[in-house]
Amino acid sequence: MAEEKDNALMEKIVSLCKRRGFVFQSSEIYGGFNGFWDYGPYGCRMKRAIENLWWHEMVETRDNVEGLDSTIICHPMVWKASGHVDQFSDLMTDCKDCKSRFRVDQMEDPTTCSNCGSKNLTEPREFNLMLQTYVGPVFDDEHKAYLRAETCQPIFVDFNQIRVASRQKLPFGIAQVGKSFRNEINPRNFTFRSREFTQMEMEFFCEEAQGMEFFEYWKEQRINYYKNKLKFKDDFFRIYVHEKLAHYAKAAIDIEVKFPFGWGELEGVHHRGTWDLSQHSKFSGQNLEYMDHDTGRKFMPTCIETSVGLDRTFLAVLANAYDEDKAATQKEGMDEDVRIVLHLPATIAPIQVAVLPLSKKLNENAEKLYKELNEHFRCEFDVTGSIGKRYRRQDEIGTPFCVTFDFESAADNAVTVRHRDSMEQERVSIDSLNKYLQDKINE
Ligand code: ATP
Repeated sequence: MAEEKDNALMEKIVSLCKRRGFVFQSSEIYGGFNGFWDYGPYGCRMKRAIENLWWHEMVETRDNVEGLDSTIICHPMVWKASGHVDQFSDLMTDCKDCKSRFRVDQMEDPTTCSNCGSKNLTEPREFNLMLQTYVGPVFDDEHKAYLRAETCQPIFVDFNQIRVASRQKLPFGIAQVGKSFRNEINPRNFTFRSREFTQMEMEFFCEEAQGMEFFEYWKEQRINYYKNKLKFKDDFFRIYVHEKLAHYAKAAIDIEVKFPFGWGELEGVHHRGTWDLSQHSKFSGQNLEYMDHDTGRKFMPTCIETSVGLDRTFLAVLANAYDEDKAATQKEGMDEDVRIVLHLPATIAPIQVAVLPLSKKLNENAEKLYKELNEHFRCEFDVTGSIGKRYRRQDEIGTPFCVTFDFESAADNAVTVRHRDSMEQERVSIDSLNKYLQDKINE
């Protein structure tokens, strides 16, 4: 399918991220470092909120999913057993004229350089994506180790430990959030393809006969999460069904998102059969089979995986939320052409409530209120500029509620709550403000 691209939107998102301190290049004062990104003050608030939302949805609200926080560097045999050392590679080609480097499977025409149009390309060659390091004082092959390329392998490796410690019976899942590293040939599209990124993965183990049922279950759960929790619009995401499957896989879908640079994979839901546990049994010599105590049957559990990138979710959330509102500008006495607004879900907005005193004389009382609210919500106290300018600053970072403390507030013990999306204002008593905001955020 032809890609629908909106380069202007991409530029606006990248620019907003830098300007407002969401995301910017790593090591920028040294010219940046390709494929690595830093999350600034608003960015890390939102990133953490998305991670917490995922964790809450996938682990905390389920009594049959356990958590894991494993190391980034594991025994090198883990990556031998998983196939990463021998097979985790992409085909790469270089343009001999302009020196651009490409992943062959991502080229529109693998015989032509998309940068300069030259046909003078090198023969495609394999390139392993594992990032390597050495553990111990000697830098030789024996001490070589890898930074994990995905967070799920330690889940398989620790399967027995977790099962025994948690006393879980099939079916149950194990989830992990953490950094993964891939030496991507061509990092691009902002944070979409990075060399260091965070994954949120869950492996759900069951009997083989239940595999397809749980594959369908998790697919639906994940779709509902994007619709209801991240508020993705219907035409913003779609399901891609894999027709060509890995030899061990039984079914696989990707949840794809309409990024400004075209449709791209956000999450995979995969029926991986018994492959991973079997591989680690074979390579470690430890039996990872499951014993059903009711029937006495011993078997290798089947696994359904849900695997999503946190950085890609972050970018998708921004693309789904970004809006330029031309009609609303005069409504609040502002004379600029457009109101830039992020329609973020209140649960993940970096700032949920901004407290704005109408005049400097009100700062002290307003700050008291801010400190109280800040115990319960992600809050910001802003005193600089006209109230209209302050609303705009909050709109641009997606703050759903601005609480204005005015000259009446001390007398009537009430404040004005201004809603980001409708720009409507409401008078709310300070005594009920906490509950009012809590209810609105959870709506
Ligand atoms: P792609 O085909 O885009 O390279 P993949 O199929 O290799 O992705 P998986 O190995 O299935 O990806 O990883 C699961 C998820 O991790 C992806 O859906 C994506 O959200 C995220 N992810 C993978 N590679 C990267 C990367 N280089 N940068 C950011 N996120 C990534």
